[in-house]
Amino acid sequence: MNRWSMPLIGWLAVCFGTSQAFWNATEASAAVVTTQEAGVDLIFRQDSFGSSPIDIRFGEVVTIADSGLLNFDSEADYFSLFDYARDTVGDLNSQLNVFYTDQITWCGGDIPAAVGCGAVNGPVLIVESDFAAGAFGAELIAHEIGHNLNLGHTGGEGLMGPRLNNDTTLTAGEVATIFESRFVQTELSGARFIQVTPYLIQASAVPEPGAAGMLVAGLAAGMAWRRR
Ligand SMILES: [Zn+2]
Repeated sequence: MNRWSMPLIGWLAVCFGTSQAFWNATEASAAVVTTQEAGVDLIFRQDSFGSSPIDIRFGEVVTIADSGLLNFDSEADYFSLFDYARDTVGDLNSQLNVFYTDQITWCGGDIPAAVGCGAVNGPVLIVESDFAAGAFGAELIAHEIGHNLNLGHTGGEGLMGPRLNNDTTLTAGEVATIFESRFVQTELSGARFIQVTPYLIQASAVPEPGAAGMLVAGLAAGMAWRRR
């Protein structure tokens, strides 16, 4: 790993989108939770995990009303994620907490192109909900979970490349680091898993099912179009 190329700032790491065009298409919109659980599970049971796959388990969605977090843009926003996680699950040392927001423009510094931000060896990660819902969603969420599991960036290749690259490979060395993480729990049967609580960030406590429904329908239409 090339440490000089790791844009780690304190406990934070940065993940950029694939292209400026993709970024420009990303407008602030109502946050929606897309766990991509099936795709994320595939990444954490790829060949380098051998006979010890890790099941990523997403719990019930927790909705929080915090309009300031809809644009994740400051260290104060970052610390508030820990507060929400502590208030919700109590224990910050055994579970992960993934937050879905509209826009991320900060991750240890002002990074307008960031689409995800994760605490390295920490319990919180945040993703832009429209990217999480898209074709790179599983890669984005798995990448930030990788940071939570104490992985830094590679020079560009694999899941831990600093930019979304459609390459979700984890090396044997990275998998060895993951197995040392306190967030990897083991059942009595020996099966390994990671428990993740998803948080939907909304502007107010009053739900707007109409607007959310329209967003989901729009994304579904876009995905159908891509398959043609
Ligand atoms: Zn990263």
